Amino acid sequence: EWIYMNGEFVSRDEAKVSVFDHGFLYGDGVFEGIRVYDGVVFRLRDHIKRLYDSAKSILLDIPMTPEEMEAAVVESVRRNGLRDAYIRLIVSRGVGDLGLDPRTCSRPQVIIIVSQIRLWPKELYEQGIRVITVPTRRNAPDALNPKIKSLNYLNNVLIKIEANLAGVAEALTLNQDGYVAEGSGDNIFIVRRGVLCTPPAYLGALEGITRQVVMELAQELGYTVKEEPFTRHDVYVADEVFLTGTAAEIIAVVEVDGRTIGSGVPGPITRRLTEAFRRRVRVDGTP
Ligand code: PLP
Repeated sequence: EWIYMNGEFVSRDEAKVSVFDHGFLYGDGVFEGIRVYDGVVFRLRDHIKRLYDSAKSILLDIPMTPEEMEAAVVESVRRNGLRDAYIRLIVSRGVGDLGLDPRTCSRPQVIIIVSQIRLWPKELYEQGIRVITVPTRRNAPDALNPKIKSLNYLNNVLIKIEANLAGVAEALTLNQDGYVAEGSGDNIFIVRRGVLCTPPAYLGALEGITRQVVMELAQELGYTVKEEPFTRHDVYVADEVFLTGTAAEIIAVVEVDGRTIGSGVPGPITRRLTEAFRRRVRVDGTP
């Protein structure tokens, strides 16, 4: 396992970060999760764009160009020789002193880890998952905007803990006004009478790349896709519900807060989109 660290490849044992790194001390940094399918990096350009947008928003100057970053990702995949993998790309503010002022940090750290993918068990994809909605709310857009994929994921961690405590696979979070926002690390879609709907990102969701791909696929298949606010009630009475994300891909939700969704099994549109997604990931990447 070769890990890219600031322009060099080091072994897993050598890949160590200082305790003075502000990514560690303050969650000061940004990241991306990216997939490799059959040797091809899926939607790399979109992920790099989102990384640089996130960095810009928190005034983090990534010490290389987007093109150099793309090349570094592709080289990391090649070095590790994995055909199917999960890539974690991290840019932290770097090593500074104990104060939170980023001016003490000399240089951002760029780290690329190429690893095996850890998916949810196969049965969950076949049966669908149970989820709950949790008390932890999405940040308001004038706090740390949820569109920024920052290293500050404590909200998301709390959502996951709340799901764990309830004994379910994942949880949905609402925004400050009570509209459904997203999962702990995935976006949500609901389907009603053949129409798909996903919350607009401004409500408090990450602009997921899988979400974007699913919207494109749904339109190509002739479905109407809306980006509109909806409430928990709309989720409960939906015909189908599914989550999308780089790690999870597309996974059906068959129960929300104890309400069975549709007939309690992954619905036909979710299945169709899953098949279309499986085909798309193999043709739409950076070799
Ligand atoms: N929402 C959050 C909070 C996430 O961390 C992720 C994961 O990246 C997503 C949604 C899904 O986005 P993507 O499809 O780009 O992986």
